[in-house]
Amino acid sequence: MSELVVTDIAKSYSSPSETLLILDGVSFKLTHGEDMSIVGASGSGKSTLLYILGTLDHPTAGEIRLDQVAPFQLSATALAKFRNDNIGFVFQDHHLLPQLTVVENVLLPALASGSPSSQLVERANELIAEVGLEARANHLPGQLSGGERQRVAVARALLKHPKLILADEPTGNLDTATSDSIADILFSLPKREGAMLIVVTHNQGLAERSMHRMQLANRKLVEVR
Ligand code: ADP
Ligand code: MG
Repeated sequence: MSELVVTDIAKSYSSPSETLLILDGVSFKLTHGEDMSIVGASGSGKSTLLYILGTLDHPTAGEIRLDQVAPFQLSATALAKFRNDNIGFVFQDHHLLPQLTVVENVLLPALASGSPSSQLVERANELIAEVGLEARANHLPGQLSGGERQRVAVARALLKHPKLILADEPTGNLDTATSDSIADILFSLPKREGAMLIVVTHNQGLAERSMHRMQLANRKLVEVR
């Protein structure tokens, strides 16, 4: 059973003239198969929190532990491997490489450690089928719709069986119907694979589908009621 334990995270940015406190005392736990949505005004620190949870940015104070491992205590090399092995990201603007096909894009997380094994290629093709893009495996991102590109991004995030999937406004650029179909995938596929999902969203429908509905306000993460 995987578990994410976040304890008293704070984040501030300092400039010569002032220190801006963005996050303060953010704590929560999430376990295997659970999902959480985070809403909040623009500039409230949602992306900052997601970057910290994804170990892409360091907190000013506090700790995160994923299955007992405290990633910020690892060396830079070990941290990069930890992130690649355990965390999948879905961004608002999909971050696909335009010159790579759908299947190559899904395999991208595996390319960091050389050429992908035949099992991983098989896994990539299974995920592409799961998100309904079987017929598109050899197309380029430029030949796909926005919703289809976001499906590729979800498949890619799942490639290495991550323990944690982080999605930052994954439906931010999509129309309502397309958003709903991405939400269907986001709330079923990671769970079926036992992954934890944290999704930052402005989409009320998407937020309402999550098990733990949270809001960032005044630097704190609180439950929506
Ligand atoms: P959200 O995703 O909720 O819109 P962000 O996490 O992107 O908000 O930003 C939260 C606040 O932190 C904003 O006021 C932003 O200007 C500030 N911020 C983000 N990154 C930096 C940085 N590198 N240096 C200084 N301030 C930053
Ligand atoms: Mg943001």
